[in-house]
Parts: sequence; C-alpha cells; structure tokens
Amino acid sequence: MQSFDLNPSERQELYKFTIDLLEKYYSDTKSNRVSPKLDISKIVDAVRKVNFSEHLTSKEAIKHLVEGMKNHSVHTPHPKYFGLYNPRANFPSIMGDLITAVFNPQLAAWSHSPFANEIENYLIAEFGKKFGYPHANIDGVFASGGAEANLTSVLCAVNHAFPQFAKSGWFGMSKRPVMYCSAESHHSVHKAAKTVGLGYDAIRNIPVRKDLKMDLEQLKGTIQKDVQEGYQPFMVIGTAGTTGTGAIDDLVGIRKIADEYALWFHVDAAYGGAAVLHPDLKDLLDGISLSDSITFDAHKWLSVTMGTSLFITRHKGILSETFRITAEYMPKEAKDLEIVDPFTHSIQWSRRAYGIKLYLALMIFGWEGYEKTIRHQTKIGEKLKELLEKGGWTVMNSSPFPVVCFMDENYLDHPDFTKTVINEIIDSGKSWISIYPIFGKPTFRACITNYNTSVEDIEELVGELNEGRERFG
Ligand SMILES: *Cc1c(COP(=O)(O)O)cnc(C)c1O
Repeated sequence: MQSFDLNPSERQELYKFTIDLLEKYYSDTKSNRVSPKLDISKIVDAVRKVNFSEHLTSKEAIKHLVEGMKNHSVHTPHPKYFGLYNPRANFPSIMGDLITAVFNPQLAAWSHSPFANEIENYLIAEFGKKFGYPHANIDGVFASGGAEANLTSVLCAVNHAFPQFAKSGWFGMSKRPVMYCSAESHHSVHKAAKTVGLGYDAIRNIPVRKDLKMDLEQLKGTIQKDVQEGYQPFMVIGTAGTTGTGAIDDLVGIRKIADEYALWFHVDAAYGGAAVLHPDLKDLLDGISLSDSITFDAHKWLSVTMGTSLFITRHKGILSETFRITAEYMPKEAKDLEIVDPFTHSIQWSRRAYGIKLYLALMIFGWEGYEKTIRHQTKIGEKLKELLEKGGWTVMNSSPFPVVCFMDENYLDHPDFTKTVINEIIDSGKSWISIYPIFGKPTFRACITNYNTSVEDIEELVGELNEGRERFG
C-alpha cells in the first residue's frame, strides 16, 4: 500500500516540482490572458477526464491541477485585473498557507494550538488598537471572510439587544426586530438577516445621497417611523468603503443616531479598513473607533491569501454570550488559565488557523511595508482618474480609495455601450473590469486591487477603453 506521506525522496522531488510550476506562474502572471475564454463544457471535461479508479502519478496529478487552474481561471493575481477586491496574494502569505497546511492546527480549542491561537489573539488586539478601540475591551475572532464576520456581527447585535435570544430564539419576541444599512451595503448583510431567521423584510435599505453615502436624515426618519409602528430597531451597519463605489458612510453621524435609539453599530470595513494603517488616510475612517464592532478582511487590501477576515468588537463577553456552548468532550487542559477556546467565540467549530499568513506577512513587511503599498495603490488610483478624465471620461464616484467608477457622458442613453466595451476588453484577455450601476445607470468600475499594477498597466487600460469607445462609434 502506498503511504499517504509518500516517501522522503518523493516529497523532496514533489516540493521542488510543484514550486517550479508555481514560481513560473507567480513570476510571469502577466503573460496569461487575464480571463480565459469561457467554454463551460471544456472546463467540465478537463476536470472529469481523470478517473479515480485508475490513479495518476503524483507529478501527473499536480501538473493536471496546475495546468487546469492556469487555463481556466480569471487571473486575479494579474496586474491588469481591475476587478472586485480580489488581490494578488503576497508571497509571505502563500508561505503562511503552506506552513498552516503542514501543521494543520486545530483552532477549535486553545489548548491544542496555543501558538496559533495566540497569534490570532495578538492580531485581533493590534488591529483593534489601530481601529482605535480601548485596549482593555478589545475582543474578536477570525472568520473565513467578510460575509461570516458580518453574520457574526448580526448575531452579536441580536444577543446584545435580546438577552433571552440564546434560549428562546425569535419565539417570545413581542415586537419584530429591524436593522438598518445603506442601499449600497454589501449583500452579505442581507444574507446574514436571512440566515439568522430575521428575513429580508427586517432590513431597511436606507437610500444614499448623491455622494453614495447613507442618507442620515432618512436613517433617522425611518427609525422613528419604525418605532411608532411598533417595530424594534436593534442594529445599524455603516460601510467604510462600499464594494461598488468605495463610499465611506458618515460613521460619527451614524454613532449619534445609534446612541439615540440604543442600536448596535457595526462597521463593515472589509475593504476600506486598511486605510487605518496609513497616517494620510486614517482620518477617512473617523468614527470607526466609536463602533461596537468591525469587519475587516485581510484577504482584500492586505493581500493575504483568501480566508482571512477579522471580526473585532469592543464588547468583551458578547462573543461568548453569542456562541458559548458546553461540550464535555472538548479538551480542557487549559481550564485553569485565562484563555478562550475559539469554538466558543465563532460560528465555526474545527477551523483552519487563518491568522498565520497575516502574522507572517506583517513580520516580514511590517506596518511600514503595508503603509507604503496602500499609499502606492491610492496613488495609482489617482493617476487612473487623471488619465480617464484626459480621455474624456467622467468619474462618477468620489471615493478616496482606488475604486473608480466612470462613464463617457455622451453615451448615458446608449443602453449597450458599457456592456459592449467591457465585453470586448474581457474577450481580448488584456484586462478585466466590471460594470457597476450608479443610481440605476451602468458605469465602468475599475479597482486597483493588485500591489503590482503599474502606471503602464493603467495607461494600457485607458487605451483599451478609448479604442472600445471608438469602435462603438
Ligand atoms: C467583500 C466584501 C464583503 C464580503 O466579504 P467576503 O470576504 O467576500 O466574505 C462584505 N462587505 C464588503 C464591504 C465587502 O467589500
């Protein structure tokens, strides 16, 4: 029988074989089309052409896997991927993932993986401080992504507002709970409302002003109306860097309203939270320190591999109240120490150690490395706006982040213009950008999500857009 470990010489050889293939891709990502030509049956065939009744050699299998990924992926690590907040993964985080896989630490109980647990506790504390929370009160947990962190926030807010919830759930509530977010919030908030059993009807999507920030007059008016009509408001979610347009809600203003009505105030800073790491940008998030909880994805602007989100709160105890359960079979070697078992703080039970790759990247780059990169990307974003305006495009959003929504206003009434130009660019394999509707009208959306994106890359993009517009006529 073949050992699942393989033997030491095979391992040596496979490490090298795999690293050579990966290094070729990583160092030469730019030679790929940004996105493949999409042929679904070809992809399905490529996956299914192997058959688990007859096995391949390790090298054949690894080669098949790497080739498939290379041929059939949108290359988010490509410098001309101007898409959603999917970064190129920085190299230390890739090594962090490998190290995590080899040790395979169990992040359910503290006592099984004290070092990995303490890494996460340290990172939660450090980021909590960066966000301006009082040191002694910081608590939090790592999550698989912003969606899980946002779901965690809704659960904490529910348990905070309705202490009987853990026992009796929604039964026994005399009033229907409602929550507030802006119409530009990420849809994971809606998913969270659905998941916890509140339902979409419990969400009030507050319209945004012209600058795409939540309209606080309307927020206040809607809360008052809900109270009068017998609903029970319990939570408001502000966004620091919306997914569509990079808008930052007025966090100080939301805090005031939240206080008036005793609402939990969560800030979804999945992308924009990185701004706290740069002295020139951190004031943009003014008021985030006043929130009750924060979502921050390190797998977005901090460019660590996926599955790294931080949920941070300044209510010590709320995570335990929300998730604690006693399980007699869980290891308790550390029961006399002041430690927390992550399974009592999280939706998850057995869990991968998400923090290791962020810890490694921070040790190697330091805060300073991130500061420089974040600033560099915002500068490339400024340059992109400049080039677009020179080319006769109008920037339609006013985000200080490198998320640029733009349009040629001469084509506002051509329904197919945006789609046609974007599809041609994507089909050419030269760049990847997306459409984002602002007040119902489509705009082009380009985000500098890769720390390697250069001035030449954005010059090329603007050239491709200008040509597309010309072809459209
Ligand atoms: C990306 C994003 C999310 C969802 O995070 P995932 O990591 O994809 O789960 C939530 N909110 C905002 C503002 C986002 O940009």
